[in-house]
Amino acid sequence: MEESTYSQSECFGCDARCCHDGVYLKDGEEERILDFVARHSEDFADLKPPLIVDGDWPGQEDERKTEKIPRDDYGDDYPAHFTKTKCIFLDDQKRCRLEYVSEIHNEDPNDVKPISCRMFPMRLENGKYVVPSGKREDDPDNIGDEYPGFISFMPCINRAKDMVKS
Ligand code: SF4
Repeated sequence: MEESTYSQSECFGCDARCCHDGVYLKDGEEERILDFVARHSEDFADLKPPLIVDGDWPGQEDERKTEKIPRDDYGDDYPAHFTKTKCIFLDDQKRCRLEYVSEIHNEDPNDVKPISCRMFPMRLENGKYVVPSGKREDDPDNIGDEYPGFISFMPCINRAKDMVKS
């Protein structure tokens, strides 16, 4: 069985571009997030609803995801086909507010942060989280010149692969 020693502290080396589109949610995650925000409403008072919206990726319109809002401070190497947006829960210091607010209230971030974010850059394939190859041709979101991929444009993917041991 594969074991990843990849640490999300590695994330501070990039623009948090993985959060640029928000995240698609698994069953129960929308309810957990909205309950968390309601319990800590003073920490999220600046956010304008809706916080969770319908999906906008072809084939995922019937799914729910976190809202995205404009962001204009990406670096020069930011992929041109990515929108200049960020998840509504990403703060100006590139921290996930679901995680950060959990920690300041001594709650477990795993209870509210979506599993896709917690496992990133691993992806769920056939019921198991795996580190993707990172190659453009293997990128499941590569639909051609218009949108040549998602995971293969993440700087952390090669570091994550290097740090996986069998
Ligand atoms: S929920 Fe947090 S980690 Fe996930 S995309 Fe939003 S800001 Fe990023």
